[in-house]
Amino acid sequence: MDLSKYLRDVPDFPKPGILFKDITPLLATPAAMHETIARFAKLDFGRIDKVAAIESRGFLFGVPLAMQLGIGFVPIRKPGKLPWKTNRVEYSLEYGKDSVEIHQDAVKPGERILLVDDLLATGGTMGAACKLVTSCGGTVAGCAFVVELGFLSGRARLQPHRVESLVMVR
Ligand code: AMP
Repeated sequence: MDLSKYLRDVPDFPKPGILFKDITPLLATPAAMHETIARFAKLDFGRIDKVAAIESRGFLFGVPLAMQLGIGFVPIRKPGKLPWKTNRVEYSLEYGKDSVEIHQDAVKPGERILLVDDLLATGGTMGAACKLVTSCGGTVAGCAFVVELGFLSGRARLQPHRVESLVMVR
């Protein structure tokens, strides 16, 4: 199955010059979602104790993947959303800064975590998520994406972590 057929290109969203990869056709097609989760589950990252994903589109893939693997799910969220004690990492955007948070007890020391998001662009968001996992004493087993915008070289920014994507856009 060609998963790229279930991604819709939306030019100039959310601002001029950005070609937005819309995953809603994928979400609307159960067979394509099954295939996506099955392909994620087949990637061999060694032992994985938990799946963590980034608010909010990452959750759409992270939760079904964790269920498929029979392991727990850890949400990584924007500041102020998680109710318990959190660790926070700040990262830079094209203009300005943003942050993400994780519950301090969501990852136990020594656990191996697979991180998931819908799309890899510059790698800033996933880089911050990796730092959150290590801030709790966890190890990043790898980073998995539905789509990778290869021309932005996000995977270089995520070194030395292993990066896998299901659809590569060059
Ligand atoms: P980055 O931190 O630059 O790797 O950006 C990744 C995050 O921004 C992901 O959570 C994506 O959902 C979102 N994103 C960035 N660029 C795009 C794009 N062209 N199409 C869809 N989502 C995008």
